[in-house]
Amino acid sequence: MEIRYWNKEIETADREKLRQIQLQRLKSIIASALKTPFYSRRLPSVGIHSPDDIKSLDDLRKIPFTTKDDLRQNYPKGLLSVDTSEVVRIHTSSGTTGVPTVIYLSAKDLDAATDIMARSIYATGTDKTDILQNMMSYGLFTGGLCMHYGAERVGLMVIPAAGGNTKRQIQLMKDFRTTVLHITPSYLLHVHSKLAEYSVAVSDLALKKAFVGAEPHSENTRRKIEDLFDIDAYNSYGLSEMNGPGVAFECVYKTDLHLWEDAYIVEIINPKTGELVPDGKEGEVILTNLIRHAMPLMRYRTRDLAFLHKESCPCKRTHRRLSRILGRTDDMLIINGVNIFPSQIEEVIMKIPEVGTNYQICVEKQGALDRLIVKVELYSKIFMGEAKQIDNLKAKIADELKASITLKPAVELHEPGVLPVFEGKAVRVVDSRPKL
Ligand code: AMP
Ligand code: ZN
Repeated sequence: MEIRYWNKEIETADREKLRQIQLQRLKSIIASALKTPFYSRRLPSVGIHSPDDIKSLDDLRKIPFTTKDDLRQNYPKGLLSVDTSEVVRIHTSSGTTGVPTVIYLSAKDLDAATDIMARSIYATGTDKTDILQNMMSYGLFTGGLCMHYGAERVGLMVIPAAGGNTKRQIQLMKDFRTTVLHITPSYLLHVHSKLAEYSVAVSDLALKKAFVGAEPHSENTRRKIEDLFDIDAYNSYGLSEMNGPGVAFECVYKTDLHLWEDAYIVEIINPKTGELVPDGKEGEVILTNLIRHAMPLMRYRTRDLAFLHKESCPCKRTHRRLSRILGRTDDMLIINGVNIFPSQIEEVIMKIPEVGTNYQICVEKQGALDRLIVKVELYSKIFMGEAKQIDNLKAKIADELKASITLKPAVELHEPGVLPVFEGKAVRVVDSRPKL
């Protein structure tokens, strides 16, 4: 069988060779992009009418950035370059106001994305003798299926456990001798806090590694995970717009994440000016996908802040390493791995007639997990009403929020005048989780 997950030639290619691969793939992506309604308007407006108008990688910078807003405005098919009969899979991520962003993969795109995922897994020293319990949600989110396919390609036994139901997760880990977890760091810490309750000791498990990602976490959190479970934890970075996990992954040396540059062109920019910043300097991560043709995406503004390391890695891979994610340039909250924009919450609660004019969104730590509390002021007439009605209203608000943001917050109802009032720009989000 062809081994596609350790491609020494590409993973250790010299920088010039990598640039050649990038240029050739970029031209081919431009050809696909020109078939989409969105880029067929945008590219000619900057003088790009055919792939031949890209002479060198520097020409990439002629292309304007693509934003999440562009994706929303062109929902659902504005960035699709092929007939849907060529598409084998879609994924979405949550949008800012309920409009999701969607990605489309052809069979070839899925194959290419799976190769990169497999490469990431293999870079951590994981191989077909391992057993992976994938504790990320399956479905429209990429963390489930995309990791699953990559792990199967390496030949691992995959347990598609998905998120939640901690008791069952621990049972599965124990019964099937799981060696590797794919999980958010907060959930993994939560799992640890539950072991004693189910009379399971770390030594009853066969865990060796965890791939942790989907949410910001610090080096200290990684160490804590490693110490508590006596395992190695590898940082995994990705976003649904770029096919999900596997954009950048740590190798066995765990010195930040190799960003697979034959599959993605990375630029780090000053988010205010759009200018490139040099390696070693923090800025916004901009990504161009070189391996997806059904839905090309170029110079995508991830809104994630990070920097690229200058030094090479002892593993000899030449693909540059991205630092851990240091923050965001927008107000997106990541709550137990789920992306939520405050505007989504506002949209839902302001549609409910009983809700007054003021609200507050609080995020706090409860044990290892995040807890979202939405505090809402009611009109006084309603607040003074029957207790049962108030309870029903509370449940209704929580349900409607769940339908929009996928997780169910605690809802607190208040009488008018209780929540802070702002004369200038309102600060409605109170995030009291410890800073990274
Ligand atoms: P999604 O599109 O739902 O997969 O969410 C992608 C976003 O999750 C990224 O843009 C990051 O903000 C965040 N994210 C993913 N992986 C990591 C990670 N390893 N560390 C910090 N944040 C991450
Ligand atoms: Zn390395």
